[in-house]
Amino acid sequence: MILIDGKKIAAELREELKKEVSELKTKHNTVPGLTVILVGEDPASKIYVKNKEKFAKEVGMNSEALRYPADLEEKTLLNKIEELNKDNNVSGILVQLPLPKHIDKRKVIETIDHRKDVDGFHPMNVGNLSSGYDSSIPCTPLGCSLLLKKVEKNLSGKHAVVIGRSNLNGKPMTQLLLKENCTVTITHSKTKDLKAECLRADIIIAAVGIPELVKGDWVKKGAIVIDVGINKTEKGIVGDVAFDEVSKVAGALTPVPGGVGPMTIACLLSNTVECFKKTQSK
Ligand code: NAD
Repeated sequence: MILIDGKKIAAELREELKKEVSELKTKHNTVPGLTVILVGEDPASKIYVKNKEKFAKEVGMNSEALRYPADLEEKTLLNKIEELNKDNNVSGILVQLPLPKHIDKRKVIETIDHRKDVDGFHPMNVGNLSSGYDSSIPCTPLGCSLLLKKVEKNLSGKHAVVIGRSNLNGKPMTQLLLKENCTVTITHSKTKDLKAECLRADIIIAAVGIPELVKGDWVKKGAIVIDVGINKTEKGIVGDVAFDEVSKVAGALTPVPGGVGPMTIACLLSNTVECFKKTQSK
C-alpha cells in the first residue's frame, strides 16, 4: 500500500512556489500578496489564519492578516473588501469561514472580486469550474486532485465515489474528477447504501466529517482512498476513513493528519500566485 505523504508533497509544492515567486519578483519587481480576514475568536480559525500567514511569508509573498472582533458590522467588512479589491498590492483575498451569524456569508463571498477569490467560492469561479473554464479552484479539492495525480497519472475512466456534497469539498471535487474523465458518483447523507457505492469505486474521496465512517470492507482491493475528514475524538484527530482497516485493502491512502490538510494551504498559495499572474498579464 502506498501511504500518500501530503506533508512531503505540500513541502515540495511550496518549494516550487518559492522559486516561482522569486522569478516573478525579478520579472515584475513585485510579489503576490495575500490578505486573510478573520472575524471573531474561533480557535481553529485563528490557527488556520496564523498558518496561512506564516507559509505565505515563507514562500516570499506579501502576507497580511486582518483581525476583527466578532461584533464587526457587516457593512464595515464589505467596505474593507471593496478597498482590497482596488488595491494593486493585493492579489488574493480570503475571508476565513465560519463568519459570525449576523454577517451574510454569501454577500461577503460575492463582494470579493472573483479575480482575487483565492478560495474559489465566488459564483463566477464556481460556474467557470463547472463549465470547464479557467477558474480559481477551492483549495482542499485542488489538493486532493494533486495527491491523486501523484499516485495515478491517468485517471480517465476510473470510477470515483465522492462522499459529501458540500460547496467546499464534495461538489468542486466532483468537477475536478469529471475534468479528469472519471465516472463520478456523488454520495451524501441521504444515500441509501453507501457501502455498496464505495465497493464499486476505484477512487474514494471521503469529505464527510464523521470519524472513521469508511470501513475496511467498504473498499475494493487496490482502490485509492483520499481522506479529507478532520475529526476531533478522544483518541486525537482522525479522518473519515478507518485508517488501520482500510490500509489493509487500499492501493493508496492518505493519513490524517499529514495527508490532505497540508495540501490545502499549499494550494491556497498556488492560487494566490495564479491570481497574481493573471492581473500582471492584463
Ligand atoms: P459539510 O458538513 O459541509 O458536508 C458534509 C457532507 O457529508 C454533506 O454533504 C453531507 O450530506 C455528507 N454526509 C453527512 N453524513 C453522511 C453520511 N452518513 N453518509 C454520507 N454522507 C454524509 O462538511 P465539509 O465542510 O465538506 O467538511 C467535511 C470534512 O472535511 C470535515 O471533517 C472537515 O473538518 C474536513 N475538512 C478538511 C479540510 C482539509 O484541509 N483537510 C478542509 C475542509 C474541511
